[in-house]
Amino acid sequence: MLARFARSMAPLVSRIAVGMLAVGSLAAFAPGCAADSDDPTGDGEDDYTRKKGKLQLVVTVDWEGRDLREDNLKAMETLRAHFPQVKIVHFLNAGYYTKQGANRADVTARVNRPLRAGDEKALHIHGWKRLFEASGVTFRGAPTFWGTTIDARGRECLEDCGHEVPISLYTSEELRKVVKFSLDTLEGNGFGRAKSFRCGGWMAKTPVRDAIAAEGLKFEHSAVPTVFLQAKLGNQPVYSWLSELWQGTTSTSQPYTMATATTPLTEVPDNGGLADYVSTQQMMDVFHANRDVFNRDRRKNVIVSVGFHEETAASYLPQLEAALTQMFAEAKAEGIPFESATSEALSVAGTAPSPPSH
Ligand SMILES: [Zn+2]
Repeated sequence: MLARFARSMAPLVSRIAVGMLAVGSLAAFAPGCAADSDDPTGDGEDDYTRKKGKLQLVVTVDWEGRDLREDNLKAMETLRAHFPQVKIVHFLNAGYYTKQGANRADVTARVNRPLRAGDEKALHIHGWKRLFEASGVTFRGAPTFWGTTIDARGRECLEDCGHEVPISLYTSEELRKVVKFSLDTLEGNGFGRAKSFRCGGWMAKTPVRDAIAAEGLKFEHSAVPTVFLQAKLGNQPVYSWLSELWQGTTSTSQPYTMATATTPLTEVPDNGGLADYVSTQQMMDVFHANRDVFNRDRRKNVIVSVGFHEETAASYLPQLEAALTQMFAEAKAEGIPFESATSEALSVAGTAPSPPSH
């Protein structure tokens, strides 16, 4: 979503980011264990006929389109080995393919390394200059998440720039070109055609939602409880934009239908945020809050969404793995049907009580 990196940021922002790098937890790795059987009564009825709900775990990773470093890919492969029962929703980024001098075969091989059968291959877009230009759209460089301006002719743009530009600055017509280019690029390299989307910086305002719906996407995963972002982003423009955009989104928000200019989207709240901003204890608090909702009416599915970024996986996966270990252990001890799910398996509770107007 919005992994921040010291490299290529303004000096002030760099100092903030350096402080953040020390936050990673040192929690020990431990193997996860599968939740109890779906059919403890053994009466042979399936979940559909019994209308039995589940507590659904949605694990997501945002691929920022910046780089595909060995340490981060290794950390993701380790996650897969520790939790073979966990499916992952990968918000993939075509931006790796448009970097200067990108080797297409190498990019594809690296992205494939932490992917496993049963995963969902979805779409993530940041405002990378080279990606937008490859899509036939003129780059815009201001205002960024930090209120700064990117000089498109500056040194930082020689390789690529624009990660911190909210794509909601563009019109839906422009964004359709970038969405289509991204979908085509990922599909052309063997990743299928995405049905789900998460916006860079969670900035899925109206033009973004209209563009992805018009290009055939069905699920939008950007709604986020901004309470998790306050500590690190509270003094940045992006924090106030997100607070307005996702007003009312909480750690127990559930999927809902959201209208667009064309077909409606299913909005899947990122209710547990991403590990760069959320501690193991905070993830467990989100798990407990949703477990309590589930226990009040076990006929209905309830989701817990947690995630991380590929580009900072080595730093932040330990705290996510510690949370996953505890979640599976508690679900087993409490007899809660808890299982990993991708977008297609989620239920929609209804329409938004107050749909975002931006
Ligand atoms: Zn992102």
